[in-house]
Amino acid sequence: MDLRDRVAGLMGRVRPELAELVDIRSVADPRQFPPEECARAAQWVVDAFAGVGFADARLAEMADGSQAVLGSRRCPDPDAATVLLYAHYDVQPPLNEAEWRTPPFELTEVGGRWYGRGTADCKSNILMHLTALRALGDEVPVNLKLVVEGSEETTGALEGFVPGHADLLRADAILVCDAGNAAVGYPAVTVSLRGVVDVIVRVEALASELHSGLFGGAAPDALAALVAMLATLRDARGNTTVPGLDNTQVWPGAAYPPETFRVDAGVLDGVSLLGDGTVSDMVWSRPVVTILGIDCPPVVGSAPAITPRASARLNLRVPPGTRTGDAAYQAIAAAMEEAYHRPMVTLGDGGSIPLCNVFADTYPDAELILMGVEEPLALIHAPNESVDPAEIASMALTEALFLQRYAALRG
Ligand SMILES: [Zn+2]
Repeated sequence: MDLRDRVAGLMGRVRPELAELVDIRSVADPRQFPPEECARAAQWVVDAFAGVGFADARLAEMADGSQAVLGSRRCPDPDAATVLLYAHYDVQPPLNEAEWRTPPFELTEVGGRWYGRGTADCKSNILMHLTALRALGDEVPVNLKLVVEGSEETTGALEGFVPGHADLLRADAILVCDAGNAAVGYPAVTVSLRGVVDVIVRVEALASELHSGLFGGAAPDALAALVAMLATLRDARGNTTVPGLDNTQVWPGAAYPPETFRVDAGVLDGVSLLGDGTVSDMVWSRPVVTILGIDCPPVVGSAPAITPRASARLNLRVPPGTRTGDAAYQAIAAAMEEAYHRPMVTLGDGGSIPLCNVFADTYPDAELILMGVEEPLALIHAPNESVDPAEIASMALTEALFLQRYAALRG
C-alpha cells in the first residue's frame, strides 16, 4: 500500500482522537480554566506519541508551571539526520461564546469542516504528526525529536527553556507546525516572520498642567510634541519612515490579493489601504510601526490645560530574511507537490512567532519549516474556528513524504 492509501486508511482514527483533544479545554490560563485541563491534554499527547515510538515521551515543567511534552525516537542508521517536530496543545480561550454557532469545546461537523476551539490551532497539527508517523510505521528514516508545548498562546515559556536545553532539542531541520497553506488545497510554507520590538516614548516639558489661555502659545506642550513625533513615523501615503529601516522591499512569493486582505482585515468601504507596495510587500516584506497606546488626558474630564507630560507605546515589526533552498526546503517543496499535485508557494506572515527566533538563534545551522493545517478559512483565534479534514490528510501525507525525501537528500 502506498503512503497516500495508508494515510487515507488512518483518517478514521483522526476524527475521534481530535474530538477527544478538542473536548479538553486546554486554555493555559488558570484564571479562566482549571489547570487540570492542560494537564489532561499534556498526558494525552504523551500517551499518543509513546504509541508511535517515542519511548521516552515525558512531561517537562516550564518556568510558568506549564508542561511541555518532550520525546525522541532513534533511527537505526547512525548517520541519519534529526528532525524536530513542534506543535502546541494549549488553545486560545473561546472568546464570546454567543458568537459560536457550535459548542466551542465539542468537535462538530458542518459543511465538511470540523468546528471547535483548537481544531486547527494547533490540535490538528498534533494529529498530522501522529498520522504521518503511523503511515510510515517502522520506516522512519530519520531521528526524531518532539516538543509539544502547553503555553504557546499565553506566556510562550518554551522560548525561555530552549537556550538552556539546547542539546535536548538540537536538530538539522525543525518542522514548526503552527501555520498553514495559502488556501485549502494550495500548499505553502511560511518563510518570513517579522521580528517585533515594543518601545515606550515619554515626553516631559512642564512641572505641571498650565492654563491653556494664560500660558498657551509659548509654553511647550508635551502632547503636541508627542503627536508631532508620532506623525513622522509614516509618510502621507502610509509608508513607514524610520531612518535606517528599508521600506522598499518587494515580497518574492505568492501575492496577498487586496480584496482578500480587505475582507480578512475588516477594512471599511471607502477606506484605502496603506503604503506604496502591494499588500504582500507591506505586510510581509516591509517594516511597520503601530501606535499601541497613548497616555494623555481622556476627552471626558479633560480641562483647558496644557499637558505637561505624555507617553506612547509603539510596536515595531521588522522583516527578517529566512534561509530557503537547502535540503529540508527542497524536500518539503517536493513533498507538497506530490501530496497536493500543485507546486508549493511561499507565504510571509506579518505576525511573529518569537519561538522561531529562539530556534534560529539557538540552532543557527538548522532549517526551519513553518507549515500546518491553519489555512485562512480556519479562523484561528476567532469564534467558529474550524479545520478541513482534507488538509489534515494532505498535510500528514506531506509530512510523511518529507521525512522520506529529506533522509534521501541528506544521505
Ligand atoms: Zn498556534
